[in-house]
Amino acid sequence: MTVLIIGLTGGIGSGKTRVSDCFIRYGVPVVDTDQLARELVEPGQLALAEIVAHFGLDCLDDAGRLHRARLRERVFADAEGRRRLEAILHPCIRAQVRERVATLTAPYCVVVIPLLAETGMTDLVERVLVVDAPEAEQIRRVVVRDQVDETQAHRILAAQASRAQRLALADDVLENIGDLEALDRQVALLHQRYLTLAAARSA
Ligand code: ATP
Repeated sequence: MTVLIIGLTGGIGSGKTRVSDCFIRYGVPVVDTDQLARELVEPGQLALAEIVAHFGLDCLDDAGRLHRARLRERVFADAEGRRRLEAILHPCIRAQVRERVATLTAPYCVVVIPLLAETGMTDLVERVLVVDAPEAEQIRRVVVRDQVDETQAHRILAAQASRAQRLALADDVLENIGDLEALDRQVALLHQRYLTLAAARSA
């Protein structure tokens, strides 16, 4: 029996982490591509060597670790650099997701892909769950959580896919417009739905 793969996405501050934590509490395996991306650039990893080869030694800190802020700054205004960085990281992330999912024996799993709409990684998953929230709410949450000002929060949002682009990919939409308890209740319903779908598929 192969595991049903749910792709979880949503804009910044939409509530993805809260949702994936709920799935984890139900015992559902969660693969987080942000976490994979961090592991792939640890010292000694091939992807880090490729980044240094392309972007130079000044994207490392004194301890030889990736200086994220410097690299982010570097590629922010440089579309070609961004493409190069993606060309290094995305194939590695894809391979890691496939490898990890292949070892799972659960009825279904969740793969968190924040930039699903931007990266076109939809082929890695069978069903897409979009966590959706009004932009004003996303901005409010990001300002509170990350201590950035509203202008910065707007800038981050503007650099991401639009709500409409994400929703166009959705099989399921979790409207995160109420309180945290309302969010948790929606995850409970989705958990039942995914168990049913997984059971029907393997019957
Ligand atoms: P990012 O993409 O930035 O990592 P995210 O999509 O993972 O964000 P979360 O970290 O889950 O979003 O949520 C952002 C913040 O908003 C958190 O502090 C979370 O506790 C809070 N939050 C999320 N949903 C709600 C809600 N319905 N009511 C109140 N606070 C919420």
